[in-house]
Amino acid sequence: MKRLLRAEIDRALCVGTSNCAEAAPEAYEMDEDCVPHAGAEADAAALLAGAEACPVGAIRVFDRGSGEQVYP
Ligand code: SF4
Repeated sequence: MKRLLRAEIDRALCVGTSNCAEAAPEAYEMDEDCVPHAGAEADAAALLAGAEACPVGAIRVFDRGSGEQVYP
């Protein structure tokens, strides 16, 4: 069964490097204020790849079903 995840960005930690959007453009995009948005429909691998690319650990990833934190 496909695992459904969601990502949360800690905007207090995010420094706008856009590593997340470059690593996984299908999951994260930068808006005009250089704030990433986690794509609601992005697949699990893309959400995790973007989170792993963040140099300041601003992205946390959760299982949508159980609410369990799966990254970091
Ligand atoms: S990689 Fe991290 S610091 Fe850079 S824009 Fe994405 S969330 Fe922000």
